[in-house]
Amino acid sequence: MRGKLVVGNWKMNGGLRQNDALLADLRAGWMASPGRELAVCVPYPYLWQAQAALSGSAIAWGAQNVSEHAAGAFTGEVSAAMAAEFGCRYAVVGHSERRTLFGETDAAVAAKAVAALAAGLTPIVCVGETLREREAGATETVVLRQLDAVVAALGPRLSAAVVAYEPVWAIGTGRTASPAQAQDVHRLLRARLSAADVAAADVPLLYGGSVKADNAKALFGCPDIDGGLVGGASLKADEFLAIARA
Ligand code: PEP
Repeated sequence: MRGKLVVGNWKMNGGLRQNDALLADLRAGWMASPGRELAVCVPYPYLWQAQAALSGSAIAWGAQNVSEHAAGAFTGEVSAAMAAEFGCRYAVVGHSERRTLFGETDAAVAAKAVAALAAGLTPIVCVGETLREREAGATETVVLRQLDAVVAALGPRLSAAVVAYEPVWAIGTGRTASPAQAQDVHRLLRARLSAADVAAADVPLLYGGSVKADNAKALFGCPDIDGGLVGGASLKADEFLAIARA
């Protein structure tokens, strides 16, 4: 039985004082619950704050990106091992904002997933098509190409990853994929993962893209959707907790 995982992606939002309030509200409002896990992925400078606020709670934390390199002359980069030193369980890799705004290729995303696992982090590998790609009928080709790069790089370590399907047209737009649209792609991803490695059949598959308290239940109720990656709505404790309980 696969459980439910809900992960907040704060993106480049936050500040010491507001984080304190948000993390305290999350901690107070979330009880350990079998088969359900909650996590927040925060900007690097706040990893220590998440660690201080959430240690000993049922909420995990993580980074929103890691370098594919282990160490060296990569000014401005942060390694997976550095994130792990702050108690991270997760690292998002290949978020569409990283792919489109920072030119991350499928190969770079795969290398980041490898680096995350090597440091003991669980990579949350994001895949998803743009609106233009969907309208051109290329959704399957795009998401499978993105997934296959990671499958090839991880080999048998694939079963330790998480995959998030995030249609780019649904991220931060308020335009959510319908449960049927999301389930169609999740079924495809699940089939590809199981074909690659039987142990990967149970890799958690998250949906991301304008998840809110009022649409989470229908999305998470789909057979191949194991939870969500939540951007904007993860910045409000009540909304995020309602999504996590959906
Ligand atoms: C995200 O940042 O991964 C995301 C899905 O954002 P939003 O929930 O705001 O669409």
